[in-house]
Amino acid sequence: MQAIRRKLKDITNLWSMVKGLKVTGGQFLKPQVTVHYPRQEVANLASFRGPLQLVAKPKDPAKPKCIACLMCVSVCPSGCLTVLKAKPPKPTPEEEAAARAALEAGEKPAKKPAPKEPSRFIYDYSLCSLCGLCAENCPVGSLSYSENIYLTATDAKAFKLDLLADLRARAGAAPPAGEE
Ligand code: SF4
Ligand code: SF4
Repeated sequence: MQAIRRKLKDITNLWSMVKGLKVTGGQFLKPQVTVHYPRQEVANLASFRGPLQLVAKPKDPAKPKCIACLMCVSVCPSGCLTVLKAKPPKPTPEEEAAARAALEAGEKPAKKPAPKEPSRFIYDYSLCSLCGLCAENCPVGSLSYSENIYLTATDAKAFKLDLLADLRARAGAAPPAGEE
């Protein structure tokens, strides 16, 4: 009885091995999908989820579509994003004089609205799980995955990325005054 059981177990194991070899053999005959990096690089990265990047305005490649609504900051489960809203521009001497005159006349001085754009956009890639919630919830489509597949560093601080500077660099634009 014992010998028969052992025989049956051997047959089952052999059958499992044949099934495994069938799968392996099938894959062996298919065309190769991997490349021998660094001798070769992947040609099409369209579906690659690289670190996030800002999407530029169609008419100004150095400016993001971002309206600084902070939605991405609130939906990110890992606290990767820090976005600061731009402040209103400094009033000109004429505008300051007009505001003083309005105050003296007991009126409310007109204030310049702050532009709907970020002044800082920092992304900590070392915390990011690439879940995509920020990009999916952005109301203006200002976040996308980059094709930066070869981003490496030995220090986690190097993954704290300034996405506004990255956008300007991609557009070949100079940094704004005071940030050179
Ligand atoms: S992809 Fe996910 S984890 Fe990464 S910044 Fe966006 S919301 Fe946060
Ligand atoms: S990237 Fe989109 S969601 Fe995030 S602050 Fe800008 S507009 Fe809002």
